[in-house]
Amino acid sequence: MLDLPFDLPPFEAGTVWLVGAGPGDPGLLTVLALHGLRSADHVVCDALVDPRIVTLARPGAVIEAMGKRGGQASARQSQITDRLVGLARQGLRVLRLKGGDPFVFGRGPEEALALADAGIGFRVVPGITAGIGGLAYAGIPATARDTNAAVAFVTGHGADGELPEQFDWDALAKGAPVMVFYMGLGHLDRMVARLLGAGRRPDELVAVVCDAATPRQRVVETTLAGLVAAVAAAKLTPPALVVLGAVVGLRARLDWWRPQ
Ligand code: SAH
Repeated sequence: MLDLPFDLPPFEAGTVWLVGAGPGDPGLLTVLALHGLRSADHVVCDALVDPRIVTLARPGAVIEAMGKRGGQASARQSQITDRLVGLARQGLRVLRLKGGDPFVFGRGPEEALALADAGIGFRVVPGITAGIGGLAYAGIPATARDTNAAVAFVTGHGADGELPEQFDWDALAKGAPVMVFYMGLGHLDRMVARLLGAGRRPDELVAVVCDAATPRQRVVETTLAGLVAAVAAAKLTPPALVVLGAVVGLRARLDWWRPQ
């Protein structure tokens, strides 16, 4: 247990905690996440969680890898929710550990809904989402007073695996001075065409941040017109964030982090 001057909520047997692990650096875990890891009987771990974080689980806790990962064989979402419900019904303290924040492009809502439907008690422990904390490790703020008063977080990968079409790309591209794309590498060429078609300037700054806040972090800076070629040339692979807008220019002065 953690020795702190305030009380933390008990991890009740037979309940599930949906915990955000942050983008990578174990130091970005919340106190509640660490408390949950130290208390859980069974940790069901998502594909994107940094292995160093899993080592913080209580000795004796069962660690099970179960995640969805674009392009790779992975558990179906229904299998994951069934597993969480089944473990909780065995009276275990179940911690579902997810990369970033569980409620940001992370299937956390589906898992929480399944638990609610099954009558299983649960708690959501938010984590630092990659689109904010990961970018900060690349020296890119999500907002800055002189550049943008709004930011859009967008998935480049819809439920059907295609570029999402359920929102108005033109309106979003016009309305959001900074756009942060999660899962953006898969349909990069179509995404760039959409953005240019919506009037974004070809010379607008873009950064691609791979494995943010991990020792493998790589950042490529380019322009919207140069994005597809730059990603191919650098052989960038997921997980990666694509950020478009003037905040990318601040990286020249704010690139503070050196992976150890
Ligand atoms: N719930 C997570 C997002 C899950 S979707 C969160 O809040 O961060 C998976 C996508 O998140 C990846 O394709 C990538 O776009 C982004 N991502 C997650 N961790 C990342 C990391 N360390 N570096 C770069 N991108 C990351």
